[in-house]
Amino acid sequence: MSDTIEKVKCLIIGSGPAGYTAAIYAARANMKPVLYQGTQPGGQLTTTNEVENFPGYPDGITGPEMMMELQKQAERFETDVRNGWITKVDFSGDVHKVWVNDVKEIHCDTVIISTGASAKYLGLESEQKYLKLGGGVSACAVCDGFFYRNHEVVIVGAGDSACEEAHYLSKLCKKVTMLVRRDEFRASKIMAARVANTENIEILFNTETDEVLGDGQVVTGVRVVNNKTNEKQEIPITGFFVAIGHKPNTDIFKDYLDLDDTGYIINAVPGTSKTNVDGVFVSGDAADHVYRQAITAAGTGCMAALDAERYLAAKDATFEVSTSNYN
Ligand code: NDP
Repeated sequence: MSDTIEKVKCLIIGSGPAGYTAAIYAARANMKPVLYQGTQPGGQLTTTNEVENFPGYPDGITGPEMMMELQKQAERFETDVRNGWITKVDFSGDVHKVWVNDVKEIHCDTVIISTGASAKYLGLESEQKYLKLGGGVSACAVCDGFFYRNHEVVIVGAGDSACEEAHYLSKLCKKVTMLVRRDEFRASKIMAARVANTENIEILFNTETDEVLGDGQVVTGVRVVNNKTNEKQEIPITGFFVAIGHKPNTDIFKDYLDLDDTGYIINAVPGTSKTNVDGVFVSGDAADHVYRQAITAAGTGCMAALDAERYLAAKDATFEVSTSNYN
């Protein structure tokens, strides 16, 4: 246990576009925000190559560069950006308690959750081995497809993400094999038709991954099994892509906040960033399973900071709502 408990007006958890945008607004409103970056400083965008759809960058920008710029902007207004992982919270009382790395205890007037979401994997030992080695397993075609130019790859999944990524890979790779575990796609008809009509994409229905094969360093193939016939086959590939959805990083909040079946935080008041706990706000992919874009995350980060500012003003007559955020 920590001997001293720190008191913070506004604690921001997470360092993607949502967290940094919330920090910029909160700092400019004199809320002296403290932001904990988590285990992946910069969030999911740091695994992305070129970002071409964020307004204001006419020539595009890489994900890591964009996140460094956002951090700089947040620090320019004196956001206290810290390394650390929030491991526990207690939102049962008036003061919201959080623990950093299980040790340091912080008491917060407001908390802005911007913890994002993480890609799901199949969980096979062989998949995890080559993922950790950086040897040919990826959950982001846009980030890593480049490394497989003119190679043969496999992608697992049958949703819109899998179709979008398969199509993206088909432009770079010699051949893309899609493994679909049922006899139909989950994706929208138009996305499914697009992959079905792409010459170098082969779709194997009723097919699951038995094992990712490799030479101990890199992926060399995959053994798949037809779940109707139990027939197995090996496909030689160098890249194994997984596109089976995302999991919001919300486990530590589940005892206090309303979550949907997948774990996304539910907005207590639609159109705001409010959760079911007063003084706790949510922004970005932790609550958004629909848009999941950097720009929408940034927009909801702004909303969370403005909602937090108004909450503080309503609670404490000495805290003045700033005018700078409304200019
Ligand atoms: P989804 O949850 O829609 O799809 C996940 C897919 O992965 C399903 O086909 C599922 O199979 C498959 N899957 C899950 N677990 C396994 C497993 N263990 N082995 C094999 N396959 C598995 O996730 P998405 O990321 O595709 O999409 C999430 C949301 O984002 C959706 O609402 C989607 O419409 C939206 N989106 C929209 C886009 C667009 O419009 N441009 C682009 C990308 C996403 P099964 O079908 O059998 O359950």
